[in-house]
Amino acid sequence: MPPTPASPRQPNRTPAPGMAEIATLPVFLRLRGKRALVSGGADPAAWKAELLAAAGASVDVYALQFSDKMRELASGSQAIALHERVCGDADFAGVAIAIGCAESQGAAQAFHAAAKRAGVPANVIDRPAQSDFQFGAIVERSPLVIGISTDGGAPVFGQMLRARIETLLPQGFRRWAAAAKAWRPTVAALKLDHGDRRRVWERFAQMAFDRPDRAPDASDLDRILAAVRMQTAPGASAAGSVALVGAGPGDPELLTLKAVRALQSADVVLYDDLILPGALDLARREATRLSVGKRGFKPSCTQEDITSLMIELAREGKRVVRLKGGDPMVFGRAGEEISGLRAAGVPVEVVPGVTAASAAAASLQLSLTERALSRRVQFITAHTREGKLPDDVDWRALADKGATSVVYMGLKTLPDLSARLIAEGLTPHTPAILVERASWPGERHIYGTIQSLPELAIDAQAKSPCLVLIGAAMGRIDP
Ligand code: SAH
Repeated sequence: MPPTPASPRQPNRTPAPGMAEIATLPVFLRLRGKRALVSGGADPAAWKAELLAAAGASVDVYALQFSDKMRELASGSQAIALHERVCGDADFAGVAIAIGCAESQGAAQAFHAAAKRAGVPANVIDRPAQSDFQFGAIVERSPLVIGISTDGGAPVFGQMLRARIETLLPQGFRRWAAAAKAWRPTVAALKLDHGDRRRVWERFAQMAFDRPDRAPDASDLDRILAAVRMQTAPGASAAGSVALVGAGPGDPELLTLKAVRALQSADVVLYDDLILPGALDLARREATRLSVGKRGFKPSCTQEDITSLMIELAREGKRVVRLKGGDPMVFGRAGEEISGLRAAGVPVEVVPGVTAASAAAASLQLSLTERALSRRVQFITAHTREGKLPDDVDWRALADKGATSVVYMGLKTLPDLSARLIAEGLTPHTPAILVERASWPGERHIYGTIQSLPELAIDAQAKSPCLVLIGAAMGRIDP
C-alpha cells in the first residue's frame, strides 16, 4: 500500500473535540527582566507603563509630550524611561511587548504594522482591531493573579466582576500562594505518587481557604504531609469539620464574607427554617443541602438529631456548615451543638452573623443605644419550651426605663409580656415596635406603646419571625 501523504500543517480552525470555543486564551506573561515599549505620553499610556513596570519590565516610553502622571511615574521609577521622540522600527528590537496609544486609526495601524514586522505582540489601547492581545481586569494577590476578559465586549462588566472577586479573595491568599511556591521543591523532592501529591495540594488549598488570614509556616507543611501519610494508611479517613455559620436575618447581602467563604467550601449545609433561599444559593454548587428546621412546636428534627448528624458527617470527612439564622450565638442553641461536637472530638468553628435585633434597628433607623435614653441593651426570649412567658426573667431589669429590650420569639406571649411589664412598673406609654421579617421582602413595622402593641399586632395579623423592641430609644421620630 502506498503511504498516505502527510497533510500539510495548518492552523486548526475548529475547536478541539470536547472543548467549547473560547473567545481568547488567557496566558500569564512573565516580564521580569524583559523590555516593554510604550508609544504615547498621555494618561492611558501612563497606566499601562505603570502596570508593565509593576510586572517587572523595563519600559521605554516614546512620545513628543508626556502627561504629568507619566512624568511623575518616570521620576519615581527607574524601570520607566521617557524618550521625547516618535518610536521607529529599530526601537522594537529585543522588545517583549508593545503598547500603543494612538489618536487616529492610521497611527494605530502604523504602530501595529511596525510591531508585527518586529514580531512583537502589540496592543493599541481601545483599538481591538489593532491589538494582538487584550488586558484583562486584574485581581492581584501576587503570586496569585486573576485576569478577567470579556474579549473587549463589556469592560465595565469585567471591572464589576473584578470587584466581586476582590471581596471573595482574602488578602492573606497572597502569603499562601507564596508559601506554595516556596514549598514546591520540598514537595517535589519527596517523590510522592501522583495521588498523594494531589492530596498534599488539596489539603494545602483547604488550609488556605479555612485560615486565609493566618501566615503559613513550615509546620503547616509538616502537618499536611503527616495528614496525607495518615490518610493513605490503610483504614484511615479524612478529617472533617463543622462550622456554625451565621446567615444573618434573611437578606443574603447581610452574610459576612467569612460566611460566604465557608459556604463555598462546604460539602454539606444543614440549614434552619429561617434561612432564605438566597443564602443557600451562595453554597458550593456540589454541596448537599439538608433542612433541619424545627417548625413551631412540632419538632421535625430534634437538637440531638442535628448534633449526631453533624458528628456523623464530620467523621465521614465532610466539611459541614451549620447555617443558622442571625448570629449563631444568639438564641441559636449553639452552646449545645458546640459541646456535643467537642465531646466527639470534631473540630468546630463559629462564624458570627448579623443578629435580628441589629437588622431591625437598621431598618427602623433607630439606635438601640441613645446617650440620654438608653445605656443598656438586653436581648430576651419571651417564651419557654411550652410556649409560655418564662418565670425566671429579671422583670426589674426589663422594667428599667433606661434600657432597650429586644424580645426574640415574643409574638405569642406579647399580651402577657405587656401586662407583666406594666405591672412591674414600666410606664404604659413606653414606645414599643414590632418588626416582622426584618430584611426580608415584605418587612413590616408596627409602631405602638407597650400597652397598645399587643392589640395592634393582632389587628395587623403579625406573623413570625418578628421582634419586639421596647424602650424610650424606640420613640418614633417622624421625619
Ligand atoms: N440566632 C437568631 C435568633 C434565633 S431565635 C438571631 O441572631 O437573629 C428565632 C427568633 O429570632 C425568631 O422567632 C424571631 O423572634 C427572631 N428573628 C429571626 N430572624 C428574624 C427576622 N428576619 N425578623 C424578625 N425577627 C427575626
